[in-house]
Parts: sequence; structure tokens; C-alpha cells
Amino acid sequence: MRRLAFSVHVSLLCLGLGCASVPEARIPLSSAASPIAVGQGGAAASVDVRATAAAISILKAGGNAIDAAVTAAGVLGVTDPFSCGIGGGGFMVVYLADGKRVVTIDHRETAPQKLQRSLLYEGGAPLPFAAFLTSGLSTGVPGTIKGWDEALRRYGTRSLSDVLQPAIRVAEQGFDVDTTFFEQTSRNIERFRDISSTAALYLTPESKPWPVGTVFKNPDLAKTYRLVAQEGIPVFYQGEIARAIVSTVTRPPVTQGASRTVRPGVMQLSDLASYEVIIRPPMSSNYRGYTLYGMGLPGSGSLTLALTFNLLEAYDPSSLSRSAFLHRYLEASRLAFADRNAFIGDPAFISVPEKGLLSPDYAAERRKTLGVSRASAQAAEPGNPLPFVGQTNGVPAPSGSASSDPGVLDKETTHITTTDAAGNIVSYTCTVEYEGGNGIVVPGYGFFLNNEMTDFDLPADPSAPHPNAPAPGKRPRSSMSPLIVFKNGAPVLALGSPGGGTIITTVGQTLINNLDFGMPIEQAIAAPRVSQRNAPDGRSTAEPEFIASPEATELSALGHQFTDAGQIGAVTAIRFHPDGTVTALAEPRRRGGGSAMVVSPAK
Ligand code: GLU
Repeated sequence: MRRLAFSVHVSLLCLGLGCASVPEARIPLSSAASPIAVGQGGAAASVDVRATAAAISILKAGGNAIDAAVTAAGVLGVTDPFSCGIGGGGFMVVYLADGKRVVTIDHRETAPQKLQRSLLYEGGAPLPFAAFLTSGLSTGVPGTIKGWDEALRRYGTRSLSDVLQPAIRVAEQGFDVDTTFFEQTSRNIERFRDISSTAALYLTPESKPWPVGTVFKNPDLAKTYRLVAQEGIPVFYQGEIARAIVSTVTRPPVTQGASRTVRPGVMQLSDLASYEVIIRPPMSSNYRGYTLYGMGLPGSGSLTLALTFNLLEAYDPSSLSRSAFLHRYLEASRLAFADRNAFIGDPAFISVPEKGLLSPDYAAERRKTLGVSRASAQAAEPGNPLPFVGQTNGVPAPSGSASSDPGVLDKETTHITTTDAAGNIVSYTCTVEYEGGNGIVVPGYGFFLNNEMTDFDLPADPSAPHPNAPAPGKRPRSSMSPLIVFKNGAPVLALGSPGGGTIITTVGQTLINNLDFGMPIEQAIAAPRVSQRNAPDGRSTAEPEFIASPEATELSALGHQFTDAGQIGAVTAIRFHPDGTVTALAEPRRRGGGSAMVVSPAK
């Protein structure tokens, strides 16, 4: 559970932002976070009440949605360090009300220049996932802190130094270890024990997870944030933090007697010094009169959702039973993921046949392979979008090649959604990839390094071409799907989720629930989830509550098979209403429940 101790909240608000200049956010009467808030004047939603409260307090002090999103992300780097932080990367989608335009900020991790694909194969076979995961090789050049700085400089009203203050306070004063934090540590305990810096921070002297209720402090991370606040971005990309990152990646601090081999990576200072945030135009697509704006390549979320919805648009939800419509949705998702896995990669390295994939004629052709009366029993093959725009140079992945989305791994990441009184909106997904990234805390600096290089594909044949194969300087394909949805030019919904490949289906199912089935947004988020990602065995993964539902029984009769995945995703969202009010939302239950707040609650 994400709970907020009264005293921590007060000190966060007073000391973090300065009592003199910042009006205090309303202190919740109950210590429990609320996953829903209705009102106006600005809003924020995240997985953690401390992060949401910090975002609201900067909004109340006159900051905008961009300031609020970065403030929340800074706090999450402290309180939810297994999901996101300055050792990772992210995708931020920003709607600027003044000018009515959407921009995206790609601060995805990038492969070091010496990361040749051959380093990721041993004995002719790809490194096993576990060996790749907890290694220096899995770490890409982190983009998060430069992404924050770029977002604030271009679109914010506060400096990075200002917005880091609440996070510094939380890191110094500490916060109560909750069940989620405890479980995240417990699930990773073996590998955390193998890394001396990680064990020293996240385990007790007896090498156990910190018990629920312990006040957890991270003075090293407070020092790191403070260094960045004082010296700016160069200290991270060229100065002492850069040197500490390179030293950690190339000489991982392995505990004596460790249970595994922790392979060193090949990152150099020059990789950090040359890291660039990329401001990209958004990818937009249309579905039933709505316009969806999200991340372009190397994000795969928006394109895969567009492929799914282009197929689905031909079916009318009001003339079908819910299960009949869901059947079409799952089959459309299967076909869309076949194309995603075959064609999408970093556009700086490969030619992605985007126009062909998105053409209505391609959708019409592809729809002929969607069985409306029976679920496919096996994985779908990708289509051929090249003729649809006369493009001939896309390189599809070899058939049957390994996907980087094993689907059953308990991945982490987190999503933040904010808006302000002026109508600016931020939909921001940030990540260190796996739960606790590569498991290695940078000694003396208090943050995990990412393992984002495991998002590349490693085909069985080390020389087979693949659009998402690793290469020096390349960004791995991502499933992160921060989205903002508009109708007739006005924002309707901003949302996103963690969850690896299930991010895409979680966002897709939430949209269908809300826009097609007409569920109120809180119900659309809470509803049990199902995810079809074109797995080789043809099965969908689903939450147990979905498997037990009448829809699942009807879908089973059509040949659908489900694998219990436990909980899927952790959405945060803001729904915009025509009267100017908003509903801010987080999960009521998944990941212990999240926190949504508004600046001026509705009476
Ligand atoms: N690394 C994932 C991606 O970029 C996000 C982390 C997750 O698995 O949730 O697609």
C-alpha cells in the first residue's frame, strides 16, 4: 500500500518547496491514498501518494504540468526506486495548451558505442536473460535526468534544481517501507545480495529486506540530486557521477562469494558525454472520431495501438456482445503484435515501413486474416506492408525470431499523469526496465542502473538481421505508451501504464472499456485485464479475475486460451470533462493502489 505518514507529508511540503512561497496542499484526513479525485485547477496521478502530493504542491505554487510531472518523477526515484530513476530513461508526451500542440521527449537509454552485438552471445547462443539482466552489459546510457532538464527548459516554469527539492527531502528524511517496497525487494533478494552496494542500501545488515514500517532513507541519492541541483546536468554526464557510472558498469561491485557471474559492461565516459535527448513529433492516429497522440519510434506503443484500432474500427461495439467485440480486439492485437515484432526498431538505424503499416488499404488486407468466429491457435505471421506505399526497403525480422518480450516476467516501470490550470498535460512513462533495473546501485550515489539493453532482440542466429537487434548508439524498441486522446481538438483522456509488452494492451483495453463499452473511466481502469501479444503458443495472458469472468468463458468457447499472469499494469490517467473539471485516476488495487489528487476538489 502507498501510505503517507502525516509528519512526512508536512515536512515534504514545508521543507521541500519552502513554506514561505508554497501554499500547503490539503493534508488528507486519512493516511490512505485515494485513487480518484475530481475537481479543477490542475491534477496529478501516480503510483505513490508522496509523488502525487509533491506534484500538487508545485501546481498550487504556480508551477505548470511539466514542473509537476518532473517533481513527481524525482520523488518516485526515491520512493519507487525499483521502477524508475535517474539511472534509467523514459518517454514524455506533452500537450501545450498555448498553441495546442503535442510534443514528445525521447530520453530512452542508448547502447554504448562499444556494445557490439557479438558481446551478447556466448558459445554461439544469446546470453541467457538472467545473465544479461544482472550485468553491466544490460545498462544503456541513462537519459532520465537530461530528459527532465530538457522538459523543464523548453516547457516548464521551474529549474531542475527547484523541482528536485521535494525528492531531496524525502530521501533525507525517509519514508515508511510499505508492502509493495518490501515485496519488490524480496523478489530480487538473491541478486541484490550479490551486489555489495545494493545489499548495503536495500538489505538489512542480516541481508534481509527492510521490514514493512521501517523508515527508509537514501542519503546517497539525496547527495546525488543535490549535486545535480547545484552543478547542473554536466556533473551527471561529464563529471563525478559519469565517472561513478562508468566505473560501476565496467567493474560491477560484486559481493565476495556471489552466487552468479556479473559480466562487466563496456560503457565509456564518451557515451555519457554524447547522450542526447530527442524531441520528436508525436505519432498520431484516429479511432472512432478520437485522435490519439503518443510516442513515435523507437516506441512501439502508439504504432501497435494504431494497427490494432485500424483493424477494430470495422466492427461496431454496439451491435456485438462484449465477448464478441473482445474476441475481435484480441485477434486484432495478435496481428498488430506480429507486425510490431517484425518491423519496429530505432528509426536512426532501420527503415520502418510506417506509412504502409498505417495505410487503410493495408488494414483492409490484414483484416482478411482476422478470424471473426474462431481464435487463432498459433502465432500470426507478420503482413507485408511494403507494397502499400511503394516502399521496398523495410527489413522484417526473420520469422520465428526471439522476442524481447517474454511476457511473464514481473517487470516494473511507472506512469505519471499531470495537468494544470492552463490546460497543459503531461503523460510520462519512466523506467529502469526490470524491477530494480540491472540490480546494481551506483556505490555512493544511491540509484539503480537500468537494464534497458535487454529490450533489444537477440535472434538465435547471431548474424540474422533484425530491426531490433542491438548496435552501438541504438535505442531499443520500447512498449512504453504514454498517450493523450483528443476529440474535436479538445483533450479527452491522458493515460499510460507500466508492464513491458502488456503496457500496450493495458492502454488499449482501458481505451476500449471507456470509449467503446462506455464504462466510466474508473471502471475502465479497474476492470480485469487480458493481453494478447502474439505469443508462440497463441495464448493470451490475463488476470485471474478476467479468467473467472463470463466473457472469458464465452471467449474460451471461441478457442481463446488464457495464462494467469497475476496483476497486469498500473494505469494512471486524467479524464477531461466538457465543463472544465477533470477526474484524476490511479489504480484502486494493483501495485497496492495509487494516488490521484486535484488542486481544487469539486464540492
Ligand atoms: N523496458 C520497457 C519498455 O521500454 C518498459 C518497462 C516495463 O517492462 O514495464 O518497453
